[in-house]
Amino acid sequence: MKKRFNRKSFQKKISSLNRERTKHISTLIQSKQMVHGLLHEVYRKCGKSACKCAHGEEHGPYPALSVNKEGKQKIVMVKKNDAPVVIAKSRRYRKFQETLVKIRKINKEIDRLLEEIKSATTESYP
Ligand SMILES: [Zn+2]
Repeated sequence: MKKRFNRKSFQKKISSLNRERTKHISTLIQSKQMVHGLLHEVYRKCGKSACKCAHGEEHGPYPALSVNKEGKQKIVMVKKNDAPVVIAKSRRYRKFQETLVKIRKINKEIDRLLEEIKSATTESYP
């Protein structure tokens, strides 16, 4: 005896996930120029012994990008003049990455549901 399953409920769930995925994909297609790396704030000491930074009040924050290069995490300082543009591009990059994660989660969920349908509708012979 195969267990019964509700086709309508699967149809509804998968269609809804598909719509959500299509929406996410559209935002990725529309994405403007990005920069590789996640935004980071860096504080620094200037090295002068009489400065406030010598007593813990470091200078900053300065914008920087945390970049993964060949498996290594690197911090790249952003030039002051580039900051507005690079920060905006980096925010887009983060958003893009987050949306990719959402799409992959939906893909997995759809795949899981399809596997469920397969097992509910497949029998062994004889
Ligand atoms: Zn200082």
